[in-house]
Amino acid sequence: MNTHTLSTAIEYLKGVGPQRGEVLKKELGIFSYADLLQHYPFRYIDRTRFYKINELNADLPAIQIIGRVVNKEILGEKRGKRLVVQFKDDTGLMELVWFQSIKWFEKNIQTGSAYLVFGKPNEFNGRISISHPEIELYDPKAKKQGNMTLQPVYNSTEKLKQFNLDTKGIQRLQAAALEIGIHEIEETIPAYILQHFGLMDKKQAMWNIHFPADVEQLNQAQRRLKFEELFFIQLKILKNKLLRTRKFKGVLFEQVGEKFTTFYNEKLPFELTNAQKRVMKEIRQDTQRGIQMNRLLQGDVGSGKTVIALMTMLLAIDNGYQACLMAPTEILAKQHEQSLKALVDADFVSIELLTGSTPKKKRKEIQESLLSGKLNILIGTHALIEDTVQFQNLGLAVIDEQHRFGVEQRARLWKKSVVPPHVLVMTATPIPRTLAMTLYGDLEVSVIDELPIGRKPIKTVHMYESQRLRMFGFMREEIEKGRQVYIVYPLIKESEKLDLLHLEAGIEAISKEFPLPDYRISIVHGKLNAADKDYEMQRFVKGETQIMVATTVIEVGVNVPNASVMIIENAERFGLAQLHQLRGRVGRGAEQSYCILMSGNKLSNDAKLRLETMVRTTDGFEISEIDLQLRGPGDIEGTQQSGVLDLKLADLAHDQALLQEARQTVIKIYEDDPDLLKPEHQILRRYLESRNPGISWDKIS
Ligand code: ADP
Ligand code: MG
Repeated sequence: MNTHTLSTAIEYLKGVGPQRGEVLKKELGIFSYADLLQHYPFRYIDRTRFYKINELNADLPAIQIIGRVVNKEILGEKRGKRLVVQFKDDTGLMELVWFQSIKWFEKNIQTGSAYLVFGKPNEFNGRISISHPEIELYDPKAKKQGNMTLQPVYNSTEKLKQFNLDTKGIQRLQAAALEIGIHEIEETIPAYILQHFGLMDKKQAMWNIHFPADVEQLNQAQRRLKFEELFFIQLKILKNKLLRTRKFKGVLFEQVGEKFTTFYNEKLPFELTNAQKRVMKEIRQDTQRGIQMNRLLQGDVGSGKTVIALMTMLLAIDNGYQACLMAPTEILAKQHEQSLKALVDADFVSIELLTGSTPKKKRKEIQESLLSGKLNILIGTHALIEDTVQFQNLGLAVIDEQHRFGVEQRARLWKKSVVPPHVLVMTATPIPRTLAMTLYGDLEVSVIDELPIGRKPIKTVHMYESQRLRMFGFMREEIEKGRQVYIVYPLIKESEKLDLLHLEAGIEAISKEFPLPDYRISIVHGKLNAADKDYEMQRFVKGETQIMVATTVIEVGVNVPNASVMIIENAERFGLAQLHQLRGRVGRGAEQSYCILMSGNKLSNDAKLRLETMVRTTDGFEISEIDLQLRGPGDIEGTQQSGVLDLKLADLAHDQALLQEARQTVIKIYEDDPDLLKPEHQILRRYLESRNPGISWDKIS
């Protein structure tokens, strides 16, 4: 095997040299020919066809059009001065605009002549225009005018451009590298898999991703390379899972004992939903296999995750183990303590709370009872993973809201006993399946996709500023019925000052509309100190105030069943996930609950889609899918450390089917040939070993 050329340092490539080599390393992390070839175009300019003016919109990339100049005039003064050319074809009229070299273009563009124009369409006040287009006289007789190809566009930087490495410059380097290196590019995926999915081979794919022969070839190349990315991520994730299940024996919860049975038969105040039953079964199976359980439990707010956590803990206790429950904040930890204690009393199982503010003496007591085994369940915050917290025999760790706990922190929990405890991670932020498969690909995933019966779905409406009086009227009606109301304002760091002004103005308006002594208002925002915040919250919780005006601090941790109305101001500025979380604050009691999304009149397309989605559905999974489509994985919590963002071509929002195929393929491979010993799997083994020098397969058994 000779991969000599591709691993050559980049400065030796024709057209690079030491100076540009240095800049390529610094700016793009390109050290070798191979690195360069993996710097894929981020888009292509479509010069394979001509567009018509009535097809144009602002979402299109740069395109080419043929038309006639019907008018030209210089408008504006000083910095606003510009040349505006009216350009027409048989479908409509548009504008070409120049802010620079105005005189030159004014002189050279001829009214009445036909031109071929190339550029990116914009839309302003419903009118389509292109600023600074490329323009040339159109000659209907010249056959192949224009450049009828897909032209790659590469990411570049100011610095690179100083060295003539703009997109054209990088194109030239790619051509040079491909020319001398293409014969060395090796296939990475077994032939039978390529064949099964009809995937292009690697050489062809690499060539076509840079210099596509046509749209079809480009699509094929992209599909092949995306598959490869997703395939190898899954190969690694599932390998880790395989290793873990081989290496770590798991605690055995062999029997369903007295605690579990008594609770289920005598204490459980309701019938489990089918989804809850299914999840309980999955957990039972997991914990009987002698392998450590790593399970992610997803379920919307109110879907009943707490009781699942409790029953799993009872299972641990029945089998002679202790359990802990870890929450991201003190408020949440306290709430868990309360809800568990409401379900079981102290004689039945012992429960303690440990947080940063637990007094020393109490802390000591807790530690002693943990070590002696007297304490069954410990609830807490990060304080739980401190080394000073020692269990007698921890068998289960439940983690609420996994986003804030990294893999590393989970690992620290394992170290608390010889055999690592089972881990159940709970989240109320549904994650799209594709993301879950990648982010938590090494976890099993359970889903509670059903709310307890009798729960009334929250009614959501979208109102504009002009409907504010109606909104106030509705609030008044609900308050008269004895309900409580949240009003939430955005408070975003980048616009904090302005946001605070809005909040103050809002508070003033509401105080006027809902005056003392009939109405009382709690006000909670991040600028308050903890004691004041707590005081204000408590007043609302106790029902002393009817209205809670707040910024997003209430997103996590407040549970007021009597609150039935959530009003979100400037709703267009919130992301979908956040809107969904906020809405989840109501609908916790028996009453019909409402969510009112207030917005201005001018909405971007994305904002419209977000608000429409909220009005249409309360299904957290559906919402999370749309959120992923709109924002991409980068903005979704938890993706940062996951490697999902290292994907160069694949896109979890749009390549779900491909991801499924890749994952299924990998699962099959490991089922048939867990150690990749078959000849056709040698290339995979080589690949994994070359990327993970730490792992030596043969040593693990
Ligand atoms: P979350 O999933 O948000 O943590 P909780 O576990 O707090 O939800 O449950 C929300 C409420 O629903 C609680 O009051 C709980 O007692 C109740 N609940 C849970 N499961 C059921 C069920 N199967 N039938 C009726 N009520 C249930
Ligand atoms: Mg909960």
